Amino acid sequence: MRKICTKCGIEKEINFENFNRLSKSKDGFRPNCKECHKSQGIIYNKINAKERAFKEKQRRLADPIKQKEKQKRNYWRHKEKSLKYNAEWRKKNWFHCKLESKVKQANKKAKYYGVDGIINRDIVYRVLMSEGFCCHYCKQKMLFGNMTIDHDMPMSRGGDNKESNLLPACTHCNSSKKSKTKNEYLKYLEMIKTSRLNMGFP
Ligand SMILES: [Zn+2]
Ligand SMILES: [Zn+2]
Repeated sequence: MRKICTKCGIEKEINFENFNRLSKSKDGFRPNCKECHKSQGIIYNKINAKERAFKEKQRRLADPIKQKEKQKRNYWRHKEKSLKYNAEWRKKNWFHCKLESKVKQANKKAKYYGVDGIINRDIVYRVLMSEGFCCHYCKQKMLFGNMTIDHDMPMSRGGDNKESNLLPACTHCNSSKKSKTKNEYLKYLEMIKTSRLNMGFP
């Protein structure tokens, strides 16, 4: 038995190779052939891609715990693939990752000391940008490797983890500042400078 596809008009043998099943129809097969049905599906998917992506996102956001579990499961199921994908993603979004690491570090410390304030990537970026990616203390341009976020009043002394308490600082200045406040550290730098001059160093 043969029939004409309603879409492309080509006469084809009625079998599973040429037509999909449709139990409602007279002969039990779709009126259009398999190829036409497939291409129709591709076009439909293309048109609705945006809408489907949006719905998918909504579904993900609706149950973050379940989503996280699913992600974990998939990670272990395709571990090698995931590792490769993650490495590539990090390489592509390296600045995002740099900011994220600062965020995590500061928020973890704030939790440890029990002080107020949770920062995010936007805040970190604003703080670093505020002085044109220069260190607040030595005024030198910072490289991506040695950018840090300094707390004016250190969190170990009860300073909060809010934007108003944050300053951009290079690794060197931040580590030699230790638990001093901004003013204490500037005074300390001044003291070192004068003592060096007194000793005859330039
Ligand atoms: Zn067809
Ligand atoms: Zn510095």
